[in-house]
Amino acid sequence: MPYCPNCKDEYREGYTICVECGVQLVDILPDKWEERQQQLKTKGSAARRIFLTIAVDEEQCTGMVSALQKNGVTVYIDGMEAGDYLNTHGAFSSYGGDLYVDRDDYEKGLAVLTQYAQSE
Ligand SMILES: [Zn+2]
Repeated sequence: MPYCPNCKDEYREGYTICVECGVQLVDILPDKWEERQQQLKTKGSAARRIFLTIAVDEEQCTGMVSALQKNGVTVYIDGMEAGDYLNTHGAFSSYGGDLYVDRDDYEKGLAVLTQYAQSE
């Protein structure tokens, strides 16, 4: 699977350039991928992540996650990095969950969610 080393998006066969970043995609082997998942799980200290909000369904979850990511906030869903969750599983399927952010992003995350709620 071609895979963007920058934004971590996974692409279908045939793509060579990331449409988001314009960088060359790299191939990642399945065992490499699992290794990376392991790294992500242990990356940073879990203690630095704090609970932000609950997403009750897929639509809300996807909306809030993309709003946060657009603003540069890294979101974790039940302890897993949201971007990687999306890339690994393709998309949410009736998935709601607890959203966590890094402590440093908490204030920003709340501001983004407030804006997001107002735009609904
Ligand atoms: Zn990219």
